[in-house]
Amino acid sequence: MLDFGFLGILWLMLQSRLFTKVARNFPKDEEAINAKLLTRAGFVEKVSAGVYSFLPLGLRVMRKIETIIREEMNALGGMEILMPALHPKENWETTGRWKTFDVLYKIKSREGKEFALGPTHEEIVVPLVAKFVNSYKDLPVYLYQIQDKFRDELRAKSGLLRGREFLMKDLYSFHTSEGDLDSFYEKMKKVYTKLFSRAGLKTRIVKSSGGTFSKYSHEFQVLTPVGEDAVFYCEKCDFAENKEIAEVKEGDKCPNCAGKIRVSQGIEVGNIFKLGTKFSKDFELLYKDEKGKENHISIGCYGIGLSRLMGAIVEIFHDEQGIIWPETVAPFAAHLIELGEGKSKKLYHDLQKAGIDVLYDDRNISHGEKLTEADLIGIPLRLVQSEKTGAKIEVKRRDEKDSKLMTVSQVIKLLQPTTYNLQTIT
Ligand code: ATP
Ligand code: MG
Repeated sequence: MLDFGFLGILWLMLQSRLFTKVARNFPKDEEAINAKLLTRAGFVEKVSAGVYSFLPLGLRVMRKIETIIREEMNALGGMEILMPALHPKENWETTGRWKTFDVLYKIKSREGKEFALGPTHEEIVVPLVAKFVNSYKDLPVYLYQIQDKFRDELRAKSGLLRGREFLMKDLYSFHTSEGDLDSFYEKMKKVYTKLFSRAGLKTRIVKSSGGTFSKYSHEFQVLTPVGEDAVFYCEKCDFAENKEIAEVKEGDKCPNCAGKIRVSQGIEVGNIFKLGTKFSKDFELLYKDEKGKENHISIGCYGIGLSRLMGAIVEIFHDEQGIIWPETVAPFAAHLIELGEGKSKKLYHDLQKAGIDVLYDDRNISHGEKLTEADLIGIPLRLVQSEKTGAKIEVKRRDEKDSKLMTVSQVIKLLQPTTYNLQTIT
C-alpha cells in the first residue's frame, strides 16, 4: 500500500484496504453466471444454498439499486416503513395462508409459540393500516419497505435469482374504490418500467395468472435465455403473456396487431397484483365514506426483488472477462489503476476532491493482474497513467475495446456525478 498519511475516510477507496480479494478461480459450487462472477469478483459470498452475504462491493451495488427504487417510490407518494421478518402464526391463520402458502418457513419458540418468517407482508401491513385508517379522508395510502424476505424455495441454484433469503421492495396501496386502485396500478406499470430502465434493464410487461385473489397480475420480465419463465411476446407491439396462462402460442398472429408471437425465457424482476378486498375482509379493514357508510378498502401490492435484479443485471451485462456494470448501479464510477510507484496519487486526490467515486488500485501486484481483475469487477470506466500517457490519462470504458487519452479536467468533467431529474408520472 502507498503511504497516504492521515487521509481517513479516503482509505475506503483504496483497493489494498478492500475487505475482499478477487479469487483466482470461479467457485466450484455455483452454476449460475451471476453467482460465479459475483462470488469470484468479491461482491457476495454464499453461506448456504440461496443464502448470501453482501460484501462491500456488492452492498454498494445494492445501495445504488435501493436509491433508484426509493426515489421512484417516494415520487409516487410512497411512505417508507420497516416491518418485522418474524410474524405471529395468528396473522397467517386469519388469512388462511398458514396452511396454504407452500414456501412459508415456520418456526417455534422455546415456549411453543409459532411464527412464520415473512415471505410477503399482507398479514402485517393490513392490520397495521386498520389501526390508522378510518375515513375516506385517510385514503389513498401507499406504504412500502425494502426488507429481507424468506421463502423455502426448492430450487435454489440460480444464485441471486432465487434466494431463500432475499431483499425485496414491497409496496401496498390502499384505496376507496377498485377504480382508484386501477388507476394507481396503471401508474405503477409506468414507474416500474422507468425504474428498471434506470437500473439498465429493458423489461416487458407480461400478463400472468393472478393467483387466488384476482384474474391476472403483471410481471416485469427481462427477456434472456437464462430466465426460468417462458414468455410469449409480440415482435411488434407490447403484447406479452406468461406461457403458464397464455392464450397464444409461438408463431400466432398477435391479438393486438399484425405482429408475430415469439417465445423467450425471462427473469421476473417485479410483479404487481390487485388484491381487491380479500385481505380487508380478513382483517376488517374498513373506511367510512362521505355518507358515513362503512366499506372495505381495496388493496394492491407491488414487489421488486432487489437481489434478483442485481443478479439479472450481471446475467445481461457481462463478457468473457467479467461483469460490465451499468453506470447507475456500478459500485464505483471509475477504477484508477496505479501502474507506477504512486504516480496516480495526485489524480486520485483530484478525483476525490471533485466528488467522484473512485476505486484506486494501489496494490503492489503485476500490471497484468490488475487489469484482469479490473475487467472482472466491471467498473464502467478504467483510468491508467503510465510513462506512455505522459501528463494525460488513458480512459477506457469497460464495454469498449479502444481507449482515449484525456486531460485531468476532461476526466473530471466526464465523471461529474449527475443528479437524476425525477419526473412524477401522473
Ligand atoms: P417467482 O414466480 O419467481 O417465484 P413470485 O411471483 O412468487 O416469484 P412475488 O411474491 O410476486 O414473487 O415477489 C415479488 C418479487 O420478488 C418477484 O417479482 C421477484 O423479483 C422477487 N422474488 C420472489 N421470489 C424470490 C426469490 N426466491 N429470490 C429472489 N427474488 C425473489
Ligand atoms: Mg411469479
